[in-house]
Amino acid sequence: MKNYSVVDVINAGCNLEPIRCVKCEYIGEVTFNQYTKDAYCAICGTWQIELFEEALKFLKDSGRFEKLGFITDEEINKIDPARVVETYLRETNQTI
Ligand SMILES: [Zn+2]
Repeated sequence: MKNYSVVDVINAGCNLEPIRCVKCEYIGEVTFNQYTKDAYCAICGTWQIELFEEALKFLKDSGRFEKLGFITDEEINKIDPARVVETYLRETNQTI
């Protein structure tokens, strides 16, 4: 079944169904919150855009960005955000 990522949510700026969690990768329990303008996973309690942007910033600032195969911001749209978050959590010794 087709599912959406945090990048799709950012691009759409609204809810899409179903969304795959960027952290636990569970599909269907992520809903967009109109007030925070972010999507929340009811399974692991993760705000999707917040964590993804935190992960992107970390990878850019620490020079790991190119190693993951991203050269431009445009290419962010082509990569799997779960991979970005997974790398970030591993590098910062946070549990997944
Ligand atoms: Zn989750």
